[in-house]
Amino acid sequence: MWGHDSKMMAETLPRIVIVGAGFGGLNAAQALAKAPVQITVIDRKNHHTFQPLLYQVATAGLSPGEIAAPIRSILSSHRNVEVLMNEVTGFDLNRRLVKTSENDIPYDYLIVAAGARHSYFGHEEWETLAPGLKTIEDALEIRRRVLLAFELAERQTAAGEGAPPLNFVVVGGGPTGVELAGTLAEISRYALAHDFRSIDPARTHIVLLEGGPRVLPTYTEDLSHSAEEQLKNLGVEVRTSTMVTKVEPGAVDIGETRLMATVVLWAAGVAASPLGRQLSNVDRAGRVPVLPDLTVPGHPEVFVIGDLAAAKDEHGKMLPGVAPVAIQQGRYVAKLIREEIKTPNLERRDFHYWDKGSIATIGRAAAVAEFGKVHISGFVAWLSWLFVHILFLIGFQNRLLVFIQWAWSYVTYERGARLITGSTYLPGWIGPAPKSPTDHPVQQEIHAGALK
Ligand SMILES: Cc1cc2nc3c(=O)[nH]c(=O)nc-3n(C[C@H](O)[C@H](O)[C@H](O)COP(=O)(O)OP(=O)(O)OC[C@H]3O[C@@H](n4cnc5c(N)ncnc54)[C@H](O)[C@@H]3O)c2cc1C
Repeated sequence: MWGHDSKMMAETLPRIVIVGAGFGGLNAAQALAKAPVQITVIDRKNHHTFQPLLYQVATAGLSPGEIAAPIRSILSSHRNVEVLMNEVTGFDLNRRLVKTSENDIPYDYLIVAAGARHSYFGHEEWETLAPGLKTIEDALEIRRRVLLAFELAERQTAAGEGAPPLNFVVVGGGPTGVELAGTLAEISRYALAHDFRSIDPARTHIVLLEGGPRVLPTYTEDLSHSAEEQLKNLGVEVRTSTMVTKVEPGAVDIGETRLMATVVLWAAGVAASPLGRQLSNVDRAGRVPVLPDLTVPGHPEVFVIGDLAAAKDEHGKMLPGVAPVAIQQGRYVAKLIREEIKTPNLERRDFHYWDKGSIATIGRAAAVAEFGKVHISGFVAWLSWLFVHILFLIGFQNRLLVFIQWAWSYVTYERGARLITGSTYLPGWIGPAPKSPTDHPVQQEIHAGALK
């Protein structure tokens, strides 16, 4: 416990409020923890999520606790950091206040790192039919739908009713869509292949739809081409230049063409947190245009970092929404504040992003990597992906657990987290007709969303 004197001292220290404990906010907090400041970290969740491994939770390879950790415990050794689990609702920039549903929290410096969500391009009604992947809850919902589809097909086939073919449609050929499609192919062909008696999971049809001319559009053309080949080798059907025009229970429309879909997953668009609009005008993706020191114009005490910031590099190119950008920005802002507290009126240096390269995983032993002019594909790229992602996981225990889990599933093809929890409703599933209205409540629920 702090004594009376240290508490009084803390009250005179500069107050820093950090909104969001994702990659940006957490790194800012950690880099400020030893400075003479008092820090309040506010996040609507009690945990930090390692988003690059969410697809492993969605496809039953890892459990949520292996890729997420309580924010409070990550920061517990830093006495000047307070963690509040709360939803930030807005800001009063003139009075320097962060607003939550309960109270207003004053600040001297504000760091907003509230990240982004998926965007349905104005079709929010598609969200319940085609979940995206951003949070642990999203990952568990995807896992539920994927595993449930196999169970319903097995049950219906075993009952002699004949199940519809299993079609999984992934919308969006960026890194998340590619890794989801590749891993779904991998689990249906290997992990689940011998566990069912009536259906053959290996016959599951996985389609990846991409609106642009190639998958992984932010990578070079040779790597996009290689990724497409690797996906095809895993058994994924890749359709590029294909725009989804409608999503309905059990179906996806591409113009006049209708694709039947047992499960639809959304990996097509990103929209920055609505908090951005409370700070300034935003760009088309909802991001806040920031100055080279990552502040909001007119407010040198307000920093916006990570996916919420529209920050440009020295050549005027927009920085990508990836973890290393958020991490480096968090550390940069922390350093800048530390220096400024020590030496007021110090001229601020601009933020420079150090791009160490990009790696996208596709599935078992399949990936592409771009390190400047060096482009690699396949097993070596996958090994580098594995190494980097395990290395950056928060906490030694998690790293060790994930590594063991991975090594085990690599050798055995097992996916240890194949649990269906929650509802047994799958939008669009065509189950056998109930014999009487009260016969099978679960089946009735399924019928409620069935394709007519
Ligand atoms: C599925 C997936 C896979 C990815 N894979 C990779 C990859 O392989 N490599 C890579 O570099 N990047 C990857 N990314 C991108 C990377 O995760 C993001 O760029 C990074 O998380 C951005 O960090 P951030 O701090 O801006 O936001 P986030 O990490 O998203 O954190 C935002 C935080 O703010 C909190 N928050 C939001 N709104 C509020 C509010 N109103 N009140 C309180 N708290 C709030 C959230 O709960 C969250 O904790 C991936 C992203 C996803 C979704």
